Amino acid sequence: MIDAMSRTRIPTLYLVIPCYNEEEVIEKTAAIVKEKMTRLADEGKIERDSKVLFVNDGSSDNTLRMLHDLSKKDPFYGVLSFAGNYGHQSAILAGMMEARHYADAVVTIDADLQQDIEALDDFLAAYMSGCDVVYGVRNDRKTDGFLKKATATMYYKLMHMLGSSALTNSADYRLMSTKALDALSEYEESSLFLRGLIPTMGFSSDIVYFDVKEREAGQSKYTFKKMMTLALDGITSCSIRPLRMIGSLGFITVIAALVMIIISIVDWANGKNVQGYTTLLIVMLVLGGVILISLGVMGEYIGKTYMEAKHRPRYIVDTVVLRECRRREEK
Ligand code: UDP
Ligand code: MG
Repeated sequence: MIDAMSRTRIPTLYLVIPCYNEEEVIEKTAAIVKEKMTRLADEGKIERDSKVLFVNDGSSDNTLRMLHDLSKKDPFYGVLSFAGNYGHQSAILAGMMEARHYADAVVTIDADLQQDIEALDDFLAAYMSGCDVVYGVRNDRKTDGFLKKATATMYYKLMHMLGSSALTNSADYRLMSTKALDALSEYEESSLFLRGLIPTMGFSSDIVYFDVKEREAGQSKYTFKKMMTLALDGITSCSIRPLRMIGSLGFITVIAALVMIIISIVDWANGKNVQGYTTLLIVMLVLGGVILISLGVMGEYIGKTYMEAKHRPRYIVDTVVLRECRRREEK
């Protein structure tokens, strides 16, 4: 842990929960988080005006209606609703950007409560000891299938090789102070990979380990396509090392070519016949493949640059319902 000044005032905590078609779990989740937050307030760990902010990421089921019902009945629940489906990363960002106006600290957690809510005590302890960012890291991957476990491990290895500072097995279960959130609001990039971005900001931080449980109900909302997009964003948004690797690849190819030329000249001088067709075909295929892959990598970055150059909004907020809240500056 980086040395930090400890805090004396307990925080107003906002819990940001992204929801995409989560009608099966919403009510249960709402009850569990309220129970936990009430307990934390009773224990004097958070202020009584702490709240939950659900972010509806363009759900097509009953999620939004259920969220509005909850917030109508109890001002403890706030709702921010997107005009469409912009994805998990945008949902947590929007929630954090809204909550930072009211809270001292914001924790993001998934709607299915796979991430152990009891870890909040540790998050808060780290916050009180002065940390501005507290990362949740999963203890193990028991609940994941073999394929997800293997791909996740490989992915983090690759990410580190490519220069990303994302913590292995870190999730988007994370506490950020408003100071860190204000800094995050200055970042304008539209392809978001918060797990990789936040560690580069460099605030005092700590890690909390938590257990991962089975999903309470419903199915994973991360389709294979969404996961691949996130993985690619993770690499291209954190590092340009793949582009440099193309240069190195070219260098290696030139050296190989030089070696082949020398071998051919020596063979020729010794009166040996230089073999033709097969060697030529192999070299051509290998080179063609390398060139196409390189073009693909470059294309990925050019595409990203193009999308960023448009400066489109990252998400469009349709409605925000937050009742009985006081903005930070009014306190
Ligand atoms: N989610 C979202 N938008 C999406 C996909 C997912 O807001 O397009 C939310 C989802 O409701 C959940 C969280 O992101 O709260 C994590 O999704 P999920 O639990 O399905 O992912 P997994 O745990 O399977 O990786
Ligand atoms: Mg989940």
